[in-house]
Amino acid sequence: MSADFLWKVSEGDSVKLKKYDPDYVHPSFKHDNADETLAALGTELGELQELLAAAQHHSVLMILQGMDTSGKDGTIRHVFSHVNPQSCRVNSFKVPTAEEAAHDFLWRIHNVTPPKGVLGIFNRSQYEDVLVVRVHNLVPESVWSHRYKAINHFEKLLADNGTIILKFFLHISQDEQTARLQARVDDKDKAWKISSSDFAERKYWDDYQKAYEDALSQCSTDEAPWYIVPANHKWYRNLVIAKTLVETMRKYKDEWKSDLEARGRKELESLQQILAGNEAKSS
Ligand code: ADP
Repeated sequence: MSADFLWKVSEGDSVKLKKYDPDYVHPSFKHDNADETLAALGTELGELQELLAAAQHHSVLMILQGMDTSGKDGTIRHVFSHVNPQSCRVNSFKVPTAEEAAHDFLWRIHNVTPPKGVLGIFNRSQYEDVLVVRVHNLVPESVWSHRYKAINHFEKLLADNGTIILKFFLHISQDEQTARLQARVDDKDKAWKISSSDFAERKYWDDYQKAYEDALSQCSTDEAPWYIVPANHKWYRNLVIAKTLVETMRKYKDEWKSDLEARGRKELESLQQILAGNEAKSS
């Protein structure tokens, strides 16, 4: 497990979530200037996304998972505010429809994975099929227990096809969840966010934590790593996710730029040939 601003799960790690502090804040990030830092990261993310879209070599898939109220929606709203919506796609996965449920569990996921040039964000994902499905016994263990392997194969297939995959688990404490749910009850402007099922799910907290530990332990690979994000502080959660995404995409920047330059040179050469041909004709 490598630690820094957040925790990257290494292949083969056995994750115990109690060991990770959801309140953690790296001393080099300050709440006071969090907005400016996020804006700078957002601007760079926008530039990198433009290169990703133009180069058409890779796609990016960012998966967000976490307990109810952990901030999946808030992360999307804040981290992607500088990104061109044209080449960005968000998919939220709910209870499967009858058609989805009639297929294998990856069918609806594969159908919407980002094509080359696109930055895709999954709000919930294939992991629900080893989380809510496991906690509520929606299929027998003999079925869900094989899904970790299927997910790893699936993500390898995507990675082999040029998908850069990052998976973020938004780690909040149970006390923080209580406070966030209570805030929705107390504030009539936030009442629309109340979902009675979120309250009902609370009694399964430990079962969910266990299910998350297994998903994080069994499905973190070099090509599709899991990151545990300390998420009790919303500003810190946004910053570390933006930072990790930017740093990951930055590694491809030179490759995308030199491809684009080569493409530009080629286009210029063919334009010069066309112009030279026109001149020869008219002389
Ligand atoms: P959110 O909580 O993400 O804002 P919703 O309140 O609509 O959105 O919740 C979506 C619900 O769909 C969650 O309770 C989630 O557990 C459930 N869900 C997602 N995928 C599956 C699945 N494969 N099987 C069963 N339930 C699922």
